[in-house]
Amino acid sequence: LHVDQPLGQGQAVSLTPDQAHYLFAVMREGPGTHVALFNGRDGEWTAEVTSAGKKTGVLTCLAWAAPQLNPPDLWLLFAPIKKERTDFIVEKAAELGCARILPVATDYTNSQRIRQDRLQAHALEAAEQCLGTYVPEVTDLVPLKKLLADWSPERRILWADESLVGAGRVMAGLTPGPWAILIGPEGGFSEGERNWLRMKPFVTPVSLGPRILRADTAVCAAITLWQATLGDWR
Ligand code: SAM
Repeated sequence: LHVDQPLGQGQAVSLTPDQAHYLFAVMREGPGTHVALFNGRDGEWTAEVTSAGKKTGVLTCLAWAAPQLNPPDLWLLFAPIKKERTDFIVEKAAELGCARILPVATDYTNSQRIRQDRLQAHALEAAEQCLGTYVPEVTDLVPLKKLLADWSPERRILWADESLVGAGRVMAGLTPGPWAILIGPEGGFSEGERNWLRMKPFVTPVSLGPRILRADTAVCAAITLWQATLGDWR
């Protein structure tokens, strides 16, 4: 379980009402149960339930179980698509190891509104599911042009676009550093956006092969390829 409190030997940790409900009512656990806890800073700790109420619970940290493992400094910029597929994108980006997830509005973005809190909850669930010790921040929707207007150029952007068929071997030539992957919406990027992206010195265009992938597939493929080339978990 992810908690927002310090973890350490003998440390008492309180559960949120939702966590207490899940653990005691849904999972039917109670005092004495051992639970894995993480907070994104102190690694994984094994803790024991020391008190269990209807909507409350306290655990006591017993032993350090695993070191803190953070993903590489990779961000995902993606244009939200339909609800379930947007949820899928956030879930997979959290599992595959993105440090930050930024939904962006583009010319052909299907959905101009997102539920940031819902997406953040998906990222958290995904981290718990894969026994990660890090939950990426999911930011609110921001127009791509506005975001890139204030972009700090040390973070290079890997722009995936299906119009770039043939540019396949780009990944192998990338150098380490802070990166962001940019994936477009169902309708892809507009010609205006393409011309504008080509002008940005910090943008590297990349092809993911000769087929037009669904946006959610493109997210998984791009992150995986980047991780295989440059991923340094620490
Ligand atoms: N209409 C489909 C859908 O509903 O998902 C396809 C959408 S595709 C245009 C969405 C995004 O995936 C593109 O903007 C691009 O970022 C990425 N993408 C898809 N195929 C790609 C390819 N072969 N190479 C690079 N990027 C690709």
